Amino acid sequence: MIDSKVVPLFKKAAAEDESPTMTGPAKCLACEHEWQTVAPVGTCQLECPSCESTRATFKHPCGVPVGELVRECNCGSRIFYVTPNGVHCWLCATTQEF
Ligand SMILES: [Zn+2]
Ligand SMILES: [Zn+2]
Repeated sequence: MIDSKVVPLFKKAAAEDESPTMTGPAKCLACEHEWQTVAPVGTCQLECPSCESTRATFKHPCGVPVGELVRECNCGSRIFYVTPNGVHCWLCATTQEF
């Protein structure tokens, strides 16, 4: 007997379209341009539509709870790469130990 069950061929593509996104105000740290944007959850760096720099980010990024102590670089950035030598600021490119 022939199995009549239909299996969608493009199921994976449809699932990717349903991946979660973040929406909100973004700001470019290079030129100060602000705009509303949508990006996949986990996106840290955004491309600025004004100056095309990739030094833009959500104004209210997903992160630690409000009131939690957060390391802030002297340049104002709170985004770092964690390396064996310390934390590396993605905005001013300094490596810092603590
Ligand atoms: Zn910009
Ligand atoms: Zn910095």
